Amino acid sequence: MRFSAWEILKQGLTGNKGWTPHWRSPDPKSAYDVVIVGGGGHGLSTAFYLAKEYGITNVAVLEKGYIGGGNVGRNTTIVRANYMLPGNSEFYSHSLKLWERLEEDTNFNAMHSQRGIINLFHSDGQRDGYARRGNQMLSQGDDAILLDNAGVREKLPYLDFDQTRFPIYGGLYHPRGGTARHDAVAWGYARGADMRGVDIIQNCEVTGIDIEGGVVKGVQTSRGPIRAKQVALITAGRSSQTAAMAGMTIPVESHILQAFVSEGLKPCIDHVVTYGMGHFYISQSDKGGLVFGGDLDFYASYASRGNLPMAEHVLEAGMTLMPMIGKAKMLRSWGGIMDMTPDGSPIIDKTPTEGLILNCGWCYGGFKAVPGSGYSTAHLLATGEHHQPAAGFRLDRFRTGRGLMDEEGTGAQHNLH
Ligand SMILES: Cc1cc2nc3c(=O)[nH]c(=O)nc-3n(C[C@H](O)[C@H](O)[C@H](O)COP(=O)(O)OP(=O)(O)OC[C@H]3O[C@@H](n4cnc5c(N)ncnc54)[C@H](O)[C@@H]3O)c2cc1C
Repeated sequence: MRFSAWEILKQGLTGNKGWTPHWRSPDPKSAYDVVIVGGGGHGLSTAFYLAKEYGITNVAVLEKGYIGGGNVGRNTTIVRANYMLPGNSEFYSHSLKLWERLEEDTNFNAMHSQRGIINLFHSDGQRDGYARRGNQMLSQGDDAILLDNAGVREKLPYLDFDQTRFPIYGGLYHPRGGTARHDAVAWGYARGADMRGVDIIQNCEVTGIDIEGGVVKGVQTSRGPIRAKQVALITAGRSSQTAAMAGMTIPVESHILQAFVSEGLKPCIDHVVTYGMGHFYISQSDKGGLVFGGDLDFYASYASRGNLPMAEHVLEAGMTLMPMIGKAKMLRSWGGIMDMTPDGSPIIDKTPTEGLILNCGWCYGGFKAVPGSGYSTAHLLATGEHHQPAAGFRLDRFRTGRGLMDEEGTGAQHNLH
């Protein structure tokens, strides 16, 4: 069933009784051409582009929980293409272009809103860094505007500009950046893949990977064995565990990242704002809640909730930047599991096992990557070749040291994130 203005009118006039489920709930078949382990944003977008771009539809997405229940439905929804390093910048630039036609491609309203992102800077050194980043963004065809103090005041008059510790010098404005409704992105891709024949199988945990003579043969699941010509492990925060099923130790640590939302307020923040000194960022959802977050909790864990010291840190940073939020009540907070790589950049690559593909290491930035990652992983599965914008996301860079993409300057060491 396709969404259209006519369909909405028709359903509205007939009591909304005629809507059909967004995707089927098939039983798993005994064999597929491709099995995707993990029904998060990246697994679903991979299935979608496999079917749409390459006509490969004998595909199953196996999800141990429900669609949208992982990090794809837990993030703070920021979508941007303001990366700087070769290897990352062209990938995120491609991903943003896919975002811009995602709703047409999937015929689903993902509430993608290009409201603009402003990264604040608070020193001459930071200004230089952002000017360089902006120039890099412009040179690859993306948008960037360097704002001075007056330029930021015009757009964000509610900030405390004259903090004694970190006065605001200006900001890097990325007008095409913004937000989207996170779980709608998962639903849209699930629906689009299902419409093209992909089986989306929820409540189906992969418990083992069948490998014979160095070649993948299929998976063991809570709903029985499934044979496959190719298997893609796309399990985000659980990647170390699923890779271990194939005998691999991968350079990924799982860390908690928290998010917070306030009670619903009238519209007051119409951009995404990041605070360059306090690791705090904020936007306002369409329901009115202020959605904000900060840094990792800084200890490895598979828990989906964080601890109070980081909550305190984030709220303090928020109060420093925009004291007005002190009047809002906090509604809830939650955590997600981040698959952190040493250089902060992801992995989309073949593994030593023939037919087994690995997609992981998205750190705290994998939501914006969902379309690009799916596209590039589908390309790798369909052609056996690396898709050019993602060609740098190699697994062996952590062994050889060649091709590291240390976007945040944290170094190629886990404990520096
Ligand atoms: C608080 C928070 C804020 C964030 N903010 C942003 C942001 O603003 N912008 C941004 O770009 N990114 C952000 N991120 C990061 C982003 O959410 C993740 O990088 C991204 O969602 C991870 O990819 P995914 O969607 O495929 O993961 P998931 O949705 O976690 O998908 C992985 C799936 O694999 C399934 N799985 C695991 N093991 C198995 C198994 N054995 N068998 C079957 N299924 C299995 C899981 O159940 C899960 O559904 C944020 C994350 C968090 C937690």
